[in-house]
Amino acid sequence: MRAAVLTEINQPLQILDLEQEPPRAGEVRVQVKAAGVCMSDWHIMNGDWPLPLPMVLGHEAAGIVIENGPGISHVEPGDHVIFSFRPHCGRCRYCSSGQTVLCIGHNDTPRWRMHDGTSRVKLNGEPVNQMARIGTFSEEVVCPSEQVIKIRKDLPFAHAAIIGCSVATGIGAVIRHARVPAGSSVLVIGCGGVGLNVVQGARLAGASPIIACDLRDNKLDYARAFGATQTINANSGDVVERVREMTDGLGVDTAFDAIGSERTALQVVDAVAPGGRAVLVGIPAFATRAPVSPSQLVYGEKVISGTYYGSVRPNIDFPILADLDLERKINLDDLISRTYRFDEINEGFRLMLAGDVARGVVLFE
Ligand SMILES: [Zn+2]
Ligand SMILES: [Zn+2]
Repeated sequence: MRAAVLTEINQPLQILDLEQEPPRAGEVRVQVKAAGVCMSDWHIMNGDWPLPLPMVLGHEAAGIVIENGPGISHVEPGDHVIFSFRPHCGRCRYCSSGQTVLCIGHNDTPRWRMHDGTSRVKLNGEPVNQMARIGTFSEEVVCPSEQVIKIRKDLPFAHAAIIGCSVATGIGAVIRHARVPAGSSVLVIGCGGVGLNVVQGARLAGASPIIACDLRDNKLDYARAFGATQTINANSGDVVERVREMTDGLGVDTAFDAIGSERTALQVVDAVAPGGRAVLVGIPAFATRAPVSPSQLVYGEKVISGTYYGSVRPNIDFPILADLDLERKINLDDLISRTYRFDEINEGFRLMLAGDVARGVVLFE
């Protein structure tokens, strides 16, 4: 069973032959059909998020269930599924209140091991960790069954894969977290895989204007295709000033930071109008701090909030996103601007960092 393994930070992924154990109670085995290349994998590869290695990376994927461990009833072999990178114990205070991405039901085991603390993949007899308990850059994955969500079979696997991270995170941030009303103004900073989905989420919500900001003109071209009404190249002057010029001097009602840096976090806070909301979507390096001005929060009654995984409930929202895609209410075809064979995966990261792709997806034969 071949998987792309990170053995050392700042090194390419290695495609290695791993030994895989069958699913135990409450686990499933899935044949992976498509897996997206995401900045979150890169944060582990470059050491921004220091995690124990070796680890199979990959967390945005879809496939077909091929084997159930004991005690599984919600999926069966042959079902098409999207992986969720967060567990869902169904019993903790967060699962019980519908904030499933905050599930704390498995906090006593590390996020890169199965719920019994062991791993299902080994290299030369030694355990290999699985990113987010899934590790989907892998021909097959054994994982907790609560982390696979059954979806309709007419959804293309590449579309299903990206619903599992960038689409859910971006559209969820607008629809589920910020609940942007029709006719209100939106700013999106960062037009990568997540940011473009914030843009099309804002279009789905009926926001206007939708202002997109990035350092690269090709990303701004993408943003216009996904619904941005105005764009700002961040190299061309002060972003916050430009946003105010476009909004009668006030700023926007809701501003999304899809990058996750000190600079962009401060920009979204400064760019919202009094009474507005700054939403942090992109995940910064763990060490990042941003000095906001508390007085503008008080005088302007501004709200800052964070959203993880778009605050979605995967069991409910993945099938809804699949329907929206097949009804052509969201555009996933143009989001997938490159596909790769599994052995081209490091090229996928190179092109993502070069800013040349909207979203790249690895297709498994
Ligand atoms: Zn991701
Ligand atoms: Zn829970």
